[in-house]
Amino acid sequence: MASSHTVLMRLVASAYSIAQKAGTIVRRVIAEGDLGIVEKTCATDLQTKADRLAQMSICSSLARKFPKLTIIGEEDLPFEEVDQELIEDGQWEEILQQPCPSQYSAIKEEDLVVWVDPLDGTKEYTEGLLDNVTVLIGIAYEGKAIAGVINQPYYNYQAGPDAVLGRTIWGVLGLGAFGFQLKEAPAGKHIITTTRSHNNKLVTDCVTAMNPDDVLRVGGAGNKIIQLIEGKASAYVFASPGCKKWDTCAPEVILHAVGGKLTDIHGNALQYNKEVKHMNSAGVLATLRNYDYYASRVPESVKNALVP
Ligand code: AMP
Ligand code: MG
Ligand code: MG
Repeated sequence: MASSHTVLMRLVASAYSIAQKAGTIVRRVIAEGDLGIVEKTCATDLQTKADRLAQMSICSSLARKFPKLTIIGEEDLPFEEVDQELIEDGQWEEILQQPCPSQYSAIKEEDLVVWVDPLDGTKEYTEGLLDNVTVLIGIAYEGKAIAGVINQPYYNYQAGPDAVLGRTIWGVLGLGAFGFQLKEAPAGKHIITTTRSHNNKLVTDCVTAMNPDDVLRVGGAGNKIIQLIEGKASAYVFASPGCKKWDTCAPEVILHAVGGKLTDIHGNALQYNKEVKHMNSAGVLATLRNYDYYASRVPESVKNALVP
């Protein structure tokens, strides 16, 4: 019998459970103690056993249930034949109880593109900065990021032994974002969050031009968007190539679903169709509020150096 739920809501409900499973894999690899670190392009571009297992788990689980999806994962790995133990078949019932926004109700499986970052913040993961780490599953339709799931496996890990470890945030444009408490950053302050592992002169020039009261250097694109929606930072500024579509797709949806804005450093919307190049060559600028202030401060020299 055909499900009464739309493809999009079934996919989001499955992605929630799949991201949770990936979060348990990320925790398990640390607990077992062998990270299996591999350098990809350089010493700050790493892959661990957790990146590999989480990606195989996410992509295989999605592909089994939704065989017509286009799935693009960060890691260059096959996902046809994986251990059954890595497969997650569940779906989060609370999501299925939500209405699908009418503009998405007729979407077909083959029209959706899923961008997967199995472990965002790998450099920080290898350094024990565990709350910087997120699992990102972003869903795009007609080139636009429309739904997303962020699992933060080590949320609460410094809150003591009784704290519940990990959380999952999800959102759909037109419906909202859930799994966290929306909070505004301190009024009148410019608190910038930016990279800690991929800094360069352009990044610094752009951050300085924002006239910051404070600069938070933390790992992960997912983590930085969480800082925006929880009022810890007022803008995410990354004036450099390096960040990819799988880094921004899910975080962008969560931010947009609560009224924020994420673009490249020129103010262009990011595109997520399957043919698009993976690199966000013109950087990232994101805010929950006051986007125009930060956009107006980007120096021309920085814009000229970053070609979309
Ligand atoms: P960061 O803010 O440095 O944590 O970067 C956010 C995301 O973009 C992470 O997934 C990084 O791995 C990725 N990223 C940013 N800059 C680079 C770079 N220069 N090389 C490789 N990955 C990068
Ligand atoms: Mg990443
Ligand atoms: Mg990653």
